[in-house]
Amino acid sequence: MSEQQRIRPGEVAVETVPAADAWLRFIGHIHTPWQRREDCPRQGNVEGPACQIEVFEPWDQALSGLQPQSTLEVLYWLDQSRRDLVLQGPKGRDQPLGTFALRSPVRPNPIGSSLVRLIGIDGRMLRVRGLDCLDGTPLLDLKPARSAFIAQHDRLSG
Ligand code: SAM
Repeated sequence: MSEQQRIRPGEVAVETVPAADAWLRFIGHIHTPWQRREDCPRQGNVEGPACQIEVFEPWDQALSGLQPQSTLEVLYWLDQSRRDLVLQGPKGRDQPLGTFALRSPVRPNPIGSSLVRLIGIDGRMLRVRGLDCLDGTPLLDLKPARSAFIAQHDRLSG
């Protein structure tokens, strides 16, 4: 049994139905220094290492108007996650918690999001700080952060 399949005491896995196709398109890849999940930060930090977001053609045209030094919300597909746990026992907690009470990568649809600082744009490559995902994680979407999020983010990371 792989490490990913192992269940901790109190955790509950369920039978899942085959995924209906939501027609998601991966629009790029994220390049980070981390090859193993255990080496990734639990959450990104804008003081963390610079990472690169590679946007595939033709979506590079959609980068027009992005401002260096702005805060972006990055959505990505945590492709190495199991998807069948309803109760999880994160390290350091006595009692399991429901999946929707956690930001664990283990979820029915393993979408991750991070607020990042955009530090540079070179064609279809973005340089950012604030990510927490594995090297090669597929990119789902990029959005300018809403001002309320930015204020909170700056307070937490500043
Ligand atoms: N910031 C995102 C969020 O809150 O939605 C993700 C948080 S999740 C706790 C981050 C962790 O997911 C990392 O520490 C790593 O253990 C794991 N992880 C990173 N990239 C992954 C991937 N491609 N597939 C599965 N797990 C991944």
